[in-house]
Amino acid sequence: MKILADIHVHTISSGHAYSTVDEIARFAGSKGMEAVAITDHSAAMPGGAHLFHFANLHILPEYIHGVRIIRGAEVNIMDYDGTIDLEEAMMEKLDLVIASLHPPCIKGADKETITRTLMKVIENPHVDIIGHPGDDRFPMDFDIIAQHAKKHRVLLELNNSSLQPTGTRLGARKHIVKMLESCKKYETPIVVGSDSHYYGSVGDFTEAINLMKELDFPEDLIVNKSQDRLMDFIQRKGDSDES
Ligand SMILES: [Zn+2]
Ligand SMILES: [Zn+2]
Repeated sequence: MKILADIHVHTISSGHAYSTVDEIARFAGSKGMEAVAITDHSAAMPGGAHLFHFANLHILPEYIHGVRIIRGAEVNIMDYDGTIDLEEAMMEKLDLVIASLHPPCIKGADKETITRTLMKVIENPHVDIIGHPGDDRFPMDFDIIAQHAKKHRVLLELNNSSLQPTGTRLGARKHIVKMLESCKKYETPIVVGSDSHYYGSVGDFTEAINLMKELDFPEDLIVNKSQDRLMDFIQRKGDSDES
């Protein structure tokens, strides 16, 4: 199983990640990857990137070391109304927006509250991906989320870091298994992300691929298998938002 676009990568601009765009692109190119999305944390994360970081992403070449650079952000969900910590006009300009629940920005809650919160985030026309669902602190009803995400053309992320033994998301695996089962049941497309904070893990989807094989998850539902498929999906969402 080959996944040629990494939709979730952090640079030094995130405040707790350690590589540059150049190091990331060079490594991705050497692995034969087609694209990487630079998705630094936005400002509510301690040490996260300032608004100007996102505004200036357009100066990056479209390709670095032969790898397409997708301009993105991993934004924070700030409350149970689904408020996001990056201006709408800025999100509109980016190629790809991942919205995630992070403990420094929002407190954990019960399943009903988190499910309702994520439904609102899924309805936000600027959000392309829900980042790393699957954490004891943020339980959700995956049947509801998978159906809602499909309806609004929002992708759910299968996050490789969550599955690693060093992962910090509590009890992640059992939640992720449920997510994949729901996505399989409702034919909800997903993306696989490394959530790399150091260039050496860019494009590392080992744990995610092993789990998908274990669960016999349909490859057809993985949108970032190629750059073309990924860009087509997120651009179409942008087009449908405008109408
Ligand atoms: Zn991070
Ligand atoms: Zn995150």
